[in-house]
Amino acid sequence: MPELPEVQTVINGLNSLVIGKEIQKIIELRSGTLEWQIPITSLGKIESISRRGKYIILQTSLHYKLVIHLRMTGKLIFERDLDKTSSHSRAEIIFADKTKLIFDDVRTFGKIEVMKKNDDIPALKKLGAEPLSDKFNAEYLINKLRNKKAPIKTVLLDQSVIAGLGNIYVAEILYRCKIDPRKAGKTLRTAQIKEIIKYTKVVLQEAIKHNGTTISDYRSVEDKSGEFQNFLNVYGKKTCECGAEIHKIKQAGRSTYFCNICQS
Ligand SMILES: [Zn+2]
Repeated sequence: MPELPEVQTVINGLNSLVIGKEIQKIIELRSGTLEWQIPITSLGKIESISRRGKYIILQTSLHYKLVIHLRMTGKLIFERDLDKTSSHSRAEIIFADKTKLIFDDVRTFGKIEVMKKNDDIPALKKLGAEPLSDKFNAEYLINKLRNKKAPIKTVLLDQSVIAGLGNIYVAEILYRCKIDPRKAGKTLRTAQIKEIIKYTKVVLQEAIKHNGTTISDYRSVEDKSGEFQNFLNVYGKKTCECGAEIHKIKQAGRSTYFCNICQS
């Protein structure tokens, strides 16, 4: 599933390719992919693109916005040839200059929502702090962890605590902090919480620099893989740098990778 660095990489790609392009129409190829909050005949040009958590928000010149969530397997692919398509194309945003953006999604959980520019996006209201913002600091996380009996791994995956983290980056962050993912959130010391803040920012910035992580099917808008998979320490690994075996357990239905020598 694309996490914050992958979504940010998609946005960086879109910023260099589709800003200023006039949207001619949006074609839905699989019902349920597009959600129109209002009937719209013309959307205008794409003016800006931003991210909140794992959501991509495209603002248009005629005061609308497209809110895109890639979910499990969604991809946005920029295509210069209108006749070309991709094997799991669910919707296509056609531009007036005869280029297009394909929304490809094998598992079909992804969505594009079209709404008025100033309308609230209900899902965004529930999101916690942006990890790369100043709001995500020790004081914020200490507060969030105060009564949390859940393991720290599960808390960090909770989008209402931190927006944008997923299974891969949480594993890597806890490894860098040398914290056992099974530890209850409320038992962490202030020094450990400060480490989580620090390494969340470090790991996410490194991953964005390397255009995200491609484990299975994540691709950039120009159909390129990320490279951060080459820098992972624990996620999907068998052996730790220390020589010990990497443990793989299930927490809240998701796989957790950790080294019980380094992370104790
Ligand atoms: Zn180790």
